[in-house]
Amino acid sequence: MGEKKRVLIVGGVAGGASAATRLRRLSEDAEIVMFERGEHVSFANCGLPYHIGEVIPQRESLLVTTPEMLRKRYRIDVRPRHEVLSIDRQAKEIVVRNLQAGAEIRERYDALILSPGAAPIRPSVPGADHPQVMTLRNIADMDAIKRVVDEERPANAVVIGGGYIGLEMAEALRERNVGVTLVELAPQVFAAADTEMVQAVHDQLRLHGVDLRLKNSVERIEPSEGNALAATLQDGSAVDAGLVIMAIGVRPEVTLAKEAGLAIGETGGIAVSDRLQTSDPNIYAIGDAIEVKHFVTGGPALIPLAGPANRQGRIAADNILGGDSVYQSSQGTAICKVFDIAIGMTGMSERLLKKQGIAYEKVYVHPQSHAGYYPGARPLSLKLLFAPNDGRILGAQATGQDGVDKRIDVLATAMRAGMSAHDLVDLELTYAPPYGSAKDPVNYAGFVASNSLKGIVGLAQPDEAWALAEHPRPDTLLLDVRTEAEVAAGGIPGAMHIPVDELRDRLSEIPKDKMIIAYCKVGLRGYLATRQLMQRGFAARNLTGGYTTYKAYAAARTNPTEAASPTTNDSPMNGKENANMPAAAATSSGSKASVEPADVVKEIDATALQCPGPIMRLAEELKDLKDGKAVSVLAADPGFGPDVTGWCRSTGNRLADLATEHGMIRATVVKGIGRETAASGDHASNSHPQAAGSSAADSAALAQIASMKKHKSMVVFSGDFDKVMASLIIANGAAAMGSKVTMFFTFWGLSALRKPQNVKVSKNLIEKMFGWMMPRGADKLTLSKMNMGGMGLAMIKGIMKRKNVTPLPELIQAAQKAGVTLVACTMSMDLMGIKKEELLDGVEYAGVGAYLDSAESGNVNLFI
Ligand code: FAD
Repeated sequence: MGEKKRVLIVGGVAGGASAATRLRRLSEDAEIVMFERGEHVSFANCGLPYHIGEVIPQRESLLVTTPEMLRKRYRIDVRPRHEVLSIDRQAKEIVVRNLQAGAEIRERYDALILSPGAAPIRPSVPGADHPQVMTLRNIADMDAIKRVVDEERPANAVVIGGGYIGLEMAEALRERNVGVTLVELAPQVFAAADTEMVQAVHDQLRLHGVDLRLKNSVERIEPSEGNALAATLQDGSAVDAGLVIMAIGVRPEVTLAKEAGLAIGETGGIAVSDRLQTSDPNIYAIGDAIEVKHFVTGGPALIPLAGPANRQGRIAADNILGGDSVYQSSQGTAICKVFDIAIGMTGMSERLLKKQGIAYEKVYVHPQSHAGYYPGARPLSLKLLFAPNDGRILGAQATGQDGVDKRIDVLATAMRAGMSAHDLVDLELTYAPPYGSAKDPVNYAGFVASNSLKGIVGLAQPDEAWALAEHPRPDTLLLDVRTEAEVAAGGIPGAMHIPVDELRDRLSEIPKDKMIIAYCKVGLRGYLATRQLMQRGFAARNLTGGYTTYKAYAAARTNPTEAASPTTNDSPMNGKENANMPAAAATSSGSKASVEPADVVKEIDATALQCPGPIMRLAEELKDLKDGKAVSVLAADPGFGPDVTGWCRSTGNRLADLATEHGMIRATVVKGIGRETAASGDHASNSHPQAAGSSAADSAALAQIASMKKHKSMVVFSGDFDKVMASLIIANGAAAMGSKVTMFFTFWGLSALRKPQNVKVSKNLIEKMFGWMMPRGADKLTLSKMNMGGMGLAMIKGIMKRKNVTPLPELIQAAQKAGVTLVACTMSMDLMGIKKEELLDGVEYAGVGAYLDSAESGNVNLFI
């Protein structure tokens, strides 16, 4: 491998830089020249969204290596800002333009590697060429987006496209307190995975205040007020945005190859052999620009991921220097972080298997990420797809807060090794309580799949259960084997209920002439029940993944555009679902239900409990409490929010509060005060086709959590300059973070709302005296301490001016502009003789009830 070859590389990032360094490691004699159109080489494209979100604070961290370093350590001739314009295959030369100097040169090669990547697709939407409509591919794009976020501080952004770049950008922008509307044409985000598996991602997005618009698209983008844009969506709605991110996908950059007459594959990528040679043996192509062979189907595919690009770089280098390395195939192993959860996958999705007519079986399991008794265990949802004849693994998908990467990686490796679902049973994986379980989720998926393949237990799928719920059949019976408490939280309509522990004694209640489909929360007790029934002569199957998978399936079946959208007031959910929501939820969406603050007598940490543990524990604790007393439960299972909402609704307890705490769910439940709601006939499992009802209610519960997080209220009692100033700084900050803020000005606080000029109103003597005592407007307020006859105040105002702190009257205006509701307490106004005419325009007038209502629906309530 010591030949003195001249190797030219087009593209200096993932594939290109990998190829270049491998070439040098293999040959000290090769002449290596790497051309990169952009300013930077070998940067971390995958880290770009995280710098915008400031999770990666240092921009330099993304510059994995520099041209200087590549020159010094590897003696690679790195030429940034050089664009390769064409390839002269006859002469074995390329034409390159130096983008800085403008000159064009020709460079000779013995071997040429094309690693030009894939470019973001820009649809031909009117207005898509506006400078504030941006794409994210490289450092320059990142800098441009970050500058808008840093300097222009847009209140809202529209992200078009729910692939991983769109999802990462939505999260990054929320991290920067920018409101996000995510518009996706498909009925789901992360289109590579199956719809029921991404419901957890949809929930996460909504939980973090992303306004998710599925089955929708942007029709046009126009300049709006100030620096903003208005995006008009296909459903006719308009969204204002200071920034639009286009992330609808990428297209392989093949112009150079095409113009050189190289073969292009049927998917539109550059066609290559398994040695990564193009149709010209002296030209190799790698990375996002090429068409690869799919590991499962053997057919052509475009799989633009960093792992394959890097590996292909090595392989091309090997082969150029006389080696014989083969690129087998790509299997699409990918993972994406979406706020507190991850979604990961490998291989084929069910949708693709169906489309390609490949026979498959599937199982769902929902184990804990590690031993449930060790703190920090989180539920994990895993779907395994395998061949029905020999169990060969065809694909896997997982979601959860912890351990998704590990399971998908094990399964990706197992797939690569040609293993079957049976083989997963035998995998010996690491185990100690903080890290896993003696039966790892991967083993567990193997047990279920293997049992099914061997006929030890027959499986039913969620679509069958859904169909049965909608159209009951005389020959099939759904059997719910969960506990009373779980059933109270919701179930599949029409199911017979016998808890698994009572099943042996109640077999006589079950008809022998029907197929029994048993189900529990996640599939384990359903399996136990099915095995009992089968051994007693019943025809029985177990619903794989239990009610948890059923609910995800149901949510996917329900029209996604009807799901709750916490940031829009005109969501179809409003009014429709709230009728079925418990009092707390109704209050959060603006109803005037009068609710007392909860009298919490016990706090329960149920984070170590597996589902349905938290609900059971809650039921247990409430049993001995008096009506009106409350219990607060912290649970790790994200499904606990919807569960506890349904449970309260059907048991007649009141859900006083539902909030997130570090990615976990805290529910405060008041015993007994909800019976009227429950009695009004909205029992989850018998009012509505369950699927639609439960998913809508779940979405509403998430919307409730999100909207509570977004509600802040403040009582401004003081008329001191410094205190009013502090309250307005907080209010403006919270409004900028997308919160709805209500400031309730009472007693001396009313001074801040007074107009500076003298307004002629008729007052009696006492009212006049108050009028004289109370400063007239924000500019006349004095310091609470060290006012020193106005000297202290003057000093403070001087410092504020020097440090560019906005003066108080302007802060009030800014708050009003940002949508902060300024409410003057009518009771104080009456007592102190302050008239409406004396107060600033735009101030609202209300009594203490309205304030309490707003405080109840929020998660922050300050008294200043
Ligand atoms: P690139 O790394 O894109 O490099 C191609 C380079 O070629 C470009 O810099 C381009 O300027 C240059 N070029 C093109 N034409 C010419 C020309 N004519 N002359 C000179 N130079 C040229 N993948 C993952 O697996 N996981 C992730 O988490 C992930 N996150 C991502 C996040 C973002 C924001 C982006 C944009 C991509 C992400 N990817 C991720 C994808 C991953 O970065 C790509 O799969 C990988 O970079 C592809 O490598 P490549 O060498 O083919 O192309």
